[in-house]
Amino acid sequence: MMGMKWLLSHRYQGDEMNEPLIDKHGRIHNYLRVSLIEKCNLRCRYCMPENPDWTPKEELCTTDELLTLIDRFIELGVVKVRLTGGEPLVRKDFNTILEHLAGRDVELSMTTNGILIDRHIRNLKDHGLLKINVSLDTLIPERFAMITRRTGFEKVIKNIKLLVDEGFEVKVNVVVMRNMNEDELIDFVRWTKDLPIIIRFIEFMPFDGNRWDDDKMVPLAEMKERIGEEFDFDKLTDGPHDTTKHYQVPGFAGQFGIISSMTEHFCGSCNRIRLLANGAMKNCLFSTDETDLLTPLRNGEDPEPIIRQVILEKKPSHAGRFNIAKQENRSMVTIGG
Ligand code: SAM
Ligand code: SF4
Repeated sequence: MMGMKWLLSHRYQGDEMNEPLIDKHGRIHNYLRVSLIEKCNLRCRYCMPENPDWTPKEELCTTDELLTLIDRFIELGVVKVRLTGGEPLVRKDFNTILEHLAGRDVELSMTTNGILIDRHIRNLKDHGLLKINVSLDTLIPERFAMITRRTGFEKVIKNIKLLVDEGFEVKVNVVVMRNMNEDELIDFVRWTKDLPIIIRFIEFMPFDGNRWDDDKMVPLAEMKERIGEEFDFDKLTDGPHDTTKHYQVPGFAGQFGIISSMTEHFCGSCNRIRLLANGAMKNCLFSTDETDLLTPLRNGEDPEPIIRQVILEKKPSHAGRFNIAKQENRSMVTIGG
C-alpha cells in the first residue's frame, strides 16, 4: 500500500517547489483545461456525433480522483484552470469542484453553452470564477435549434447579458461554418457596438463524427475580408499565449477575435495541457495520443513522472490542416476545446 501512502501524504499543501512542466521545445505548460463531463444538454452538430460512444461510468473520474489529479497539476506549476466539457454545468458535483478549486492559488475560467448560467451565477461569482466563454453560433433562434438540435436560444442570450451585468469577463465563441452561419459575421461584430464582450470566431475544426469538410471551413483571411466590407477595424495587441487574434471597430464597446487553429496555428507559444473526464491527459488538442492517469492513480502511484514525460514529448506543432483532417481524434464533446 505504498501508493495509498503517497496519495494520503500528497494532498496539496501549497508549499512544494517544483521544476516547471517544460517540453523539448522550451515551452512551459501552466494552463490546464479540464473536461469535467462527456455529456451535454445540447447536441451541436459540429461537436457531438449522432451516436456518441460514452465512456462507462466506472471508467470516469470520481470527484475525489478528478480533484487529486487537478491538484497534482497545480503542484507542478499550473496557474490557470479552465473548466469545460461536454457541458461543465451539467456535472452534478460541479459546486464541490468549484468550491475546492476556489481554495487553490489558480485563475479559474469556464467554457459553457450558457443554458444553466442563471442557476449558477451567484455561486460562480462568490467563488471567483469570473472569466466565462459562452458558445453561441448564431443570432437567429431557428438556426440555434438547427445547429444545437435543442431549444434554449433565448436563455443563452439572456444569460450572456446577465453575465455582463454582473461584471463577468465574457467571451462568445462562434464556430464559423460555410452555408451555416458565415453570413452572420457582420451581425455578431455589430453586437459588440454596445455590449462589452469579445466575440471569437473559430475556424471549424475536424473531430470524430462532426462531418468536417475543408469546404465548410471559413479561413481567417476570408473572415477578415468579409467583416472589412462592412467595418473598418483595428488590430489589437494579443497576449503572449493568446490563441485569438484580436480586433476592434473604433468606438465599439466590445471586440472581436479570430481563432485560426486550421490556417495559422499558434503552437509556438502553446502552454496548454488537457485533462479529460476519464482521467486521460492530452498534450495537444489535435494529438491522437492520450495518456491514462486514472489507472496509475487508482493503483496508488504518483502520476508526476508520466505527466512530465507526456509534456516533454509534445510535438512542436500540429501537422497542418490536411493532415489533421485525415487523423482520427475523439469527438470534441469529450475533449472540451
Ligand atoms: N459545452 C461547452 C460549450 O459549448 O462551450 C464547453 C465544451 S465545447 C466542446 C468547447 C468549445 O469547443 C465550444 O466553444 C465549441 O464551440 C468548440 N467546438 C466544438 N466543436 C468544434 C469544432 N469542430 N471546431 C471548432 N470548435 C469547436
Ligand atoms: Fe455541448 Fe458544447 Fe459540444 Fe455544443 S459545443 S454539443 S454545447 S459540448
